[in-house]
Amino acid sequence: MTSAGASVVIVGAGIVGASIAYHLAVRGHRDVTILEREPSPASGSTARSAAGVRHQFATEVNIRLSRYSIERLARFTDEVGGHAELRQHGYLLMITEPGAWGAFQDQVALQRRLGVPTDLLEPAEIERLVPGTKVDDVIGATYCRLDGHCDPYGVAMGYLDRAKALGVTVRCEAPVTGIELSGSRVTAARVGGESIPCDVLVNAAGCWAGAVGALAGLTIPVRPYRRTIYMTEDRSGLPEGMPFSFDVASGFYVRPEGNGLLFGLTNPDEPPSERLDVDWDWLDSVLEAGLRRFPVLAQATIAEKKCWSGLYEITPDHLPVLGRHPALPNYLDASGFSGHGVMHAPATGLLIAEEILDGRAHSIEIDDLRVGRFEAGTSTTETNIF
Ligand SMILES: Cc1cc2nc3c(=O)[nH]c(=O)nc-3n(C[C@H](O)[C@H](O)[C@H](O)COP(=O)(O)OP(=O)(O)OC[C@H]3O[C@@H](n4cnc5c(N)ncnc54)[C@H](O)[C@@H]3O)c2cc1C
Repeated sequence: MTSAGASVVIVGAGIVGASIAYHLAVRGHRDVTILEREPSPASGSTARSAAGVRHQFATEVNIRLSRYSIERLARFTDEVGGHAELRQHGYLLMITEPGAWGAFQDQVALQRRLGVPTDLLEPAEIERLVPGTKVDDVIGATYCRLDGHCDPYGVAMGYLDRAKALGVTVRCEAPVTGIELSGSRVTAARVGGESIPCDVLVNAAGCWAGAVGALAGLTIPVRPYRRTIYMTEDRSGLPEGMPFSFDVASGFYVRPEGNGLLFGLTNPDEPPSERLDVDWDWLDSVLEAGLRRFPVLAQATIAEKKCWSGLYEITPDHLPVLGRHPALPNYLDASGFSGHGVMHAPATGLLIAEEILDGRAHSIEIDDLRVGRFEAGTSTTETNIF
C-alpha cells in the first residue's frame, strides 16, 4: 500500500489516465505524473470514439460503472470544470430474434433492479420514436432515456486541466520504454535513458496496455482492434434528437452527429492490429445491414473525409482489467474497456484512486475485473457488446 506522500506514475494521458490523475488529486494526492508518448494528451482511442454512454449492459459490474459515470458526466462542469457535453437522447436496442428477446428482458430486469430506468418498447413505439425505422420483423426494443453521448476529448481535457491545477504533472512526448523492478515491486518507469522513480505505477495505456504490462514482465490480455466509424453528409430524414439506435442481430448502429449521421458495424473477421485507415472494403456490408433497418439511408451521401478508424482495446471477456496486480502489488491495471472506456472513465478514476489511497476499491466491487480472473478461469463475459 502507498502512503499519502508516495509518488504515482500513470502511463497514458487518455480519458482513463486523466480521470485517475484527477481523482487522486482531488483527494489531496498530488504527487502524480502522467507520462504520455504522443505530443498531446487524449490523442489515442479517446479522440476516436463514437462517444456513446449507456447503462444497458448484461453484467452488474458494467451497469454499476455506467450508473456512477453517467451521473458524474451529467454534473461534469459543476464538479470538475470543462465540458462533457452530455446529450441524453437514449440508446435504443432493437431485437428481432425470440431467443435474444428473452435475454434482453432479463437484462432490463437487472438494470431496473440497479436503479436504471430502462423500458421495453413495442414496435409501434419504436416507429414513433424514430420515424423511418423498419420494424416489420422487430419483436421489441429496450430503451433507456438516460443513455446518450458526450464529448470524450472535453471530458479528458477537463480532468487534465483540473488535475494540473491541483499539482499533477503531465509530460507529453514521454514514451515509457521500460519498467524497473526490485523483487516484486516497481521502482521506476523508464523514458528512454531517464529513470523516473515511483511508488505506484498505473497502466492506463489503452489498447497498448498489453505492451506496457510486458515491460514489467506481465501478461495483460488487452489487444488492439481497428473499428471504423462512417459519416453521412446529412441525416436523410432521420430525426435530429433520435436515440443511438442499434439493430442487435446485425450489430448495425446509427446516431446523429452534427448535421449528419454517424454509423458503423463491427467486422467480426477484423484481426488484431494498429491499423488506422478507414475500412472502405467493409462499407458495403455495413450499408446492407443498415438499409434493412433504416431504408431512408438509401438517400444518404457518405462524407468520405469525415469517416475515421480507431482502436478498440479488447479483453477475452469484454470486461476491463482493473486494480492491483497480484504478482506486483504496486502496479495497477486500468485498461481493456473493450469499447466502453469513455463511458466508464469517471468510475475508473474513482476506483483506482481508492485502490491506491485506501488499499482497495470500495465504491464498486471490482473483484470480477481483476486480472487474476483469466488465470483462475473465473471470468464472466459481457454479452451486450457491439
Ligand atoms: C471507433 C471507436 C468507437 C468507440 N466508441 C465508444 C463509445 O461509444 N463509448 C465508449 O465509452 N467508448 C468507445 N470507444 C472506446 C474508447 O474510445 C476507449 O475505451 C477509451 O478511449 C480508452 O481510453 P484510454 O484512456 O484507456 O485509452 P487512450 O485514449 O487510447 O489513451 C491511452 C494513452 O496511452 C498512451 N500510451 C500508450 N503506450 C504508451 C507508452 N508506452 N508510454 C506512454 N504513453 C503511452 C497512448 O499514446 C494514449 O494516449 C470507442 C473506440 C473506438 C476506436
